Amino acid sequence: MNKNRMPVVFSGHGSPMLALEHSSETETLRKVGDTMIEQFGKPEAILSISAHWYTDGTFVQSAPEPEQIYDMYGFPDELYDFKYPAKGSAELTAAVKELLGNKVSINDEWGIDHGTWTVLCHMFPEADIPVVQLSVSKKATPAQCVEIGKALAPLRDRGFLIFASGNVVHNLGRVEWDNPGGSPMTETFNADITDAIVSGRIEEVINYSKHAYAYYAVPTPEHFLPLLYILGAAGDDRPTVFNNVCNLGAIAMTGYAFGLQEK
Ligand code: ZN
Repeated sequence: MNKNRMPVVFSGHGSPMLALEHSSETETLRKVGDTMIEQFGKPEAILSISAHWYTDGTFVQSAPEPEQIYDMYGFPDELYDFKYPAKGSAELTAAVKELLGNKVSINDEWGIDHGTWTVLCHMFPEADIPVVQLSVSKKATPAQCVEIGKALAPLRDRGFLIFASGNVVHNLGRVEWDNPGGSPMTETFNADITDAIVSGRIEEVINYSKHAYAYYAVPTPEHFLPLLYILGAAGDDRPTVFNNVCNLGAIAMTGYAFGLQEK
């Protein structure tokens, strides 16, 4: 068993086409994965909290071979042919049940969705680390998401990677297809949240809805809330910020890795 205390990671995912891209962002994701394995060894399994499994209550998967879900429409065939055949992990599912008790139920109606596989295919391209998804609960307040993350933190000491995929800014209604960067509101909200995280002002992140641009940056909470689980699991660990970029006007790709050793 991996005895190191594993890091925890939040990553932006943006367009599902990320899976097929080769860019400086995908290079960075690869580096984050490589650095983690170098410093801590391969995780026993990955608990993935994806914006795209947003449910009434908290669910965890238990399938030995979870289905890969292509939960997006209108993309090239190549994307629907893309395979990330990660297996499940009975050990991780059992550990989540043990830590969350009756606050979590097993549910295998979903699978490994594009929030998970479009990022993990770059971080861990071999797909040889088992993956179990945990849903984002519609019923949990931001503070409760942090509490769930805290309750899951002991997974780190058992060699499991806690990973979440969403976006600090995600507004599909305001996407600017010809804008390679972020709008001023996107840039400001992303910078303010990132500054709060780096400075350890977690209350500000929990109270993100009070930000003047929250209505624009977080029109619906499902892409933002995965970050709060990660802040709970991270505890006092300091973050390394990666892919601190905004694109399509209204998307922030920013990621945070907590507990990686500075080089
Ligand atoms: Zn998404």
